[in-house]
Amino acid sequence: RMASPALLLRVVASAYSVAEKAATIVRNVMAAGDLGIVDKTGDNDLQTKADRLVQMSICASLAQKFPKVTIIGEEELSTDEVTEELIEDGHCEEILKKTCPAQYAGIKEEELVIWVDPLDGTKEYTEGLLDHVTVLIGIAYEGKAIAGVINQPYYNYEAGAGAVLGRTIWGVLGIGAFGFQLTEAPAGKHIIVTTRSHSSTLVNDCISALNPDSVIRVGGAGNKIIQLIEGKASAYVFASPGCKKWDTCAPEAILHAVGGKITDIHGNSFQYNKEVKHMNSAGVLATLRNYDYYASRIPNTVKQSLVP
Ligand code: AMP
Ligand code: MG
Ligand code: MG
Repeated sequence: RMASPALLLRVVASAYSVAEKAATIVRNVMAAGDLGIVDKTGDNDLQTKADRLVQMSICASLAQKFPKVTIIGEEELSTDEVTEELIEDGHCEEILKKTCPAQYAGIKEEELVIWVDPLDGTKEYTEGLLDHVTVLIGIAYEGKAIAGVINQPYYNYEAGAGAVLGRTIWGVLGIGAFGFQLTEAPAGKHIIVTTRSHSSTLVNDCISALNPDSVIRVGGAGNKIIQLIEGKASAYVFASPGCKKWDTCAPEAILHAVGGKITDIHGNSFQYNKEVKHMNSAGVLATLRNYDYYASRIPNTVKQSLVP
């Protein structure tokens, strides 16, 4: 008789299905047309009905199955009763068939922290830049991002009728990442991907100092990591506070699972234990390859402006 799969694999397998349910909610809210936009801080920091419903769906669904896991979501919501139709109970069978890396095989529920960004790229969602949007579920153990799910609800939306809309990317350190085609960025070119809606003089000065061949400005931390693993960009550079742990946890796990690297602008790794400060105050630097090339060229003046 087979032993039951390791807890980590069961959490990732459930998160996969929960993220697919989330994507359906994201598409349904947009299709219904009433986004219910709230500005949280006045700094292009928006929340829609989709952010709210998806967070309730993800957190309640995972908490029901894994009651002792710590789950931290972006949105501050009144603790309303979650309706049954928001609960997802399924899981991805393929993930349960993987072999759990030995160092994670004995993990207990109380040792996991799940960071949830129900809708990353909300500003772009409200502007109809739908392929920028992702749903992020990051899983941390001993302060490190070890597994993650990124769902892109509108993947393929420009391909027209008949194309399958949406995809789910997942990864675990020591297993790998799946649901996309790992692609190298053009050799010898420095293509930087950065924020579209949270720019500043510092953000732009840092990019200029790297002397890029081109700059791609798109929304979402999840979307920018997808640009790296699919070879569209060679570095994600964001010399500013603003990104939070729920933005980086799932992307970090997936990027690290395929050999990439993400840190703050100083080169410090991010911590994901439950007591940690949410803000990534010293920005983001991420690459699939050639991390040192970019890290060594971040100007000291930029570093001095960003206190971790
Ligand atoms: P962006 O690259 O601008 O899409 O940002 C990536 C993530 O960080 C998104 O979840 C943003 O909402 C968040 N973020 C970045 N800068 C800020 C900011 N100044 N205020 C609020 N959220 C921000
Ligand atoms: Mg976000
Ligand atoms: Mg969000």
